[in-house]
Amino acid sequence: MKKQILFVILIIVSICILSAYVNTNEVSTGESYKEHTPILKVVIDAGHGGQDVGAIGDSGQYEKNFTLSVAKKVVNLLEQEPQIQVYMTRADDSFISQESRYRPKYANKLNADLFISIHGNTFSDSNVSGTETFYYHENSQTFAKAIQKHVAEATGFKDRGTTKKDLFVVKDTKMPSALIEVGYLTNPQDESKMWTDDFQNRVAASIVEGIKDYRAELEKQGQGIWFF
Ligand SMILES: [Zn+2]
Repeated sequence: MKKQILFVILIIVSICILSAYVNTNEVSTGESYKEHTPILKVVIDAGHGGQDVGAIGDSGQYEKNFTLSVAKKVVNLLEQEPQIQVYMTRADDSFISQESRYRPKYANKLNADLFISIHGNTFSDSNVSGTETFYYHENSQTFAKAIQKHVAEATGFKDRGTTKKDLFVVKDTKMPSALIEVGYLTNPQDESKMWTDDFQNRVAASIVEGIKDYRAELEKQGQGIWFF
C-alpha cells in the first residue's frame, strides 16, 4: 500500500516538473522570437500637400491628392505584414515646406529601413508617358530598381527606368530610398487611368512586391535579415 502511494506521488511530482519545464520553454521561445525577429520600418511619403498642389493634371486635378490616395493604399497593404512597421510623412492634406526638409528628417529620426516617395509626373508635351524611379545614393540603386520593375509592370506605361537625381528627399535620407514618378498626369489617357481605384490598387500592390523583391535580393547577397 505504501509503495502504491509513493508511486502515485512520484507520478504527480513528475507531471508537475514536466509541465513547469514545458511552460518555461514556451515562454522563453516566445521571448526570443520577439527579440530576434527584426521589424522593418518603412516610411511612405505622399508627395506635396496643402498649398503645394504638385502637378496639375490634364483634367485639372492635383498631384497631391493622387500621391496621398496611393500612399494610403500602400500603407493599408503594409499594415497587414506582421514584420513591417509603416509610417507616413503625411496622412492628410497637410502642407510640408521644402525648406524644413521634414520628410527626410522624419525618416532619419525614426531610423527607418526604407523610404518611398510617391509622385505623379508632369510635362509640357501631353504625349509624354511613362513610369520612372529616382534615387541618389549607391545604397539605394538596388532598391530603386526593384521598385521600378514592379511599378512599371503594374502601370503598363513605358518603362523609363531608374535614374540618379539630386532630389532632397532621396539625397538627405540615410536609408535606401526611392522616389517613384508613377505616370504623367499631363497625359490625358494615362491620367484617366491613374485616378481609378483599380489602377491605384495595382500600383500599391506593386510597391509592396518591390519591397519583397528587394528583401529577396539582399538575402541572395547574404545580407537578409528580414522575415515577412
Ligand atoms: Zn511631385
